[in-house]
Amino acid sequence: MYSQNPVFIPGPTNMPEVVRKACDMPTLDHRSPAFARLFKPAVAGVKRVLKMDQGEVIILPSTGTGGWEAAISNTLSPGDTVLAARFGMFSHRWIDMCQRHGLNVQIIETPWGQGAPLAAIEAALKADTAGTIKAVLATHNETATGVRSDIAGIRRAMDAAGHGALLLVDGVSSIGSMPFDMAGWGVDIAVAGSQKGFMLPAGLAILGVSPKAIAAMETATLPRTFFDFRDMLRTYAAGGYPYTPAVGLIAGLARAIEVLEDEGLENVYARHHRLAEGVRRAVAAWGMTPCAVSPDLYSDTITAVVVPEGCNGTDLVKLAAEKYDVAFGVGLGEVAGKVFRIGHLGMLTDVMVLSGLAAAEMCMADLGWNIRLGSGVAAAQDYFRGSARIMALAAE
Ligand SMILES: *Cc1c(COP(=O)(O)O)cnc(C)c1O
Repeated sequence: MYSQNPVFIPGPTNMPEVVRKACDMPTLDHRSPAFARLFKPAVAGVKRVLKMDQGEVIILPSTGTGGWEAAISNTLSPGDTVLAARFGMFSHRWIDMCQRHGLNVQIIETPWGQGAPLAAIEAALKADTAGTIKAVLATHNETATGVRSDIAGIRRAMDAAGHGALLLVDGVSSIGSMPFDMAGWGVDIAVAGSQKGFMLPAGLAILGVSPKAIAAMETATLPRTFFDFRDMLRTYAAGGYPYTPAVGLIAGLARAIEVLEDEGLENVYARHHRLAEGVRRAVAAWGMTPCAVSPDLYSDTITAVVVPEGCNGTDLVKLAAEKYDVAFGVGLGEVAGKVFRIGHLGMLTDVMVLSGLAAAEMCMADLGWNIRLGSGVAAAQDYFRGSARIMALAAE
């Protein structure tokens, strides 16, 4: 038996019916022209979502984590120095991966709940007069804490330092749900996955790669075969793959981008902001706070809710799954138990979000937490009533 309830985890996200159906297709020869006809619109669509004005899109049968590995192994060499701030589980895991690849990571330790520290990044780059730092790694949306960092600000810091490092950005939980501007921000590699903003099953790593990153690929010596961009780009030119692609997922990706563009990307971002704001109103009504320390850092795709002293966020997540068949995210790493996470990205409406808030409240009441049933739901309802788009007009 599977549940009809939506999930409220930050990925995999709920799938639109039309996207699910698009993945379900007969076997297709990936060396045939039919595959090229299916693949090219997906690539073109990703370019629009990432706002790329040049460079290449690479779609690997993998996940976001494989996308990170591809980003570093194609542009860097053993012993290279990279600069990264650590402020959550995902920035931590990327740093760990770099270290395991024999890179020298210059780490800026940052309290969890804060974002990428622009001044410290600028200072580190200015101090690096020898140009030792080859890449700056940035996690756009730290899914563990619900913090969105200012990637344009990192680009400005790099420019202010006159530093020529690559800018590699993890956009796994932001791309397709929050504004992303690869060209405007001067991002060299943007990494996304299929199961978050693109509303697909897991199975694709989706990357935007700048001409500068493509040039770096020619001299980078970290070992790679499956993820080698050179093989990908050579075969892409003919509309193909160096190995067997995940054809159904690629068909789904093209359809998912149509769904996003039918709504309009700006409207998609506005909807995510609205849903997130409704969740934040509920959190405030519960007398709780987001883990993100200030409003400019609030993520529109995920809210990590700091639970009151003496409460354990993991208890809520377990109870929600066992009793109500509803999925929330647990706290990870340093904030394990201290937060629970409400994912509000992908295919979601205000009505769906209200159901998630109501389920969370039932769990809090069951656990004896000091909240009043309906308080958060009412705060979100008030906000949604006042900010609703009139559907009949929106459809025209
Ligand atoms: C989900 C996520 C990842 C990992 O992606 P997988 O697809 O699970 O490998 C990496 N970074 C961020 C910010 C994420 O949210």
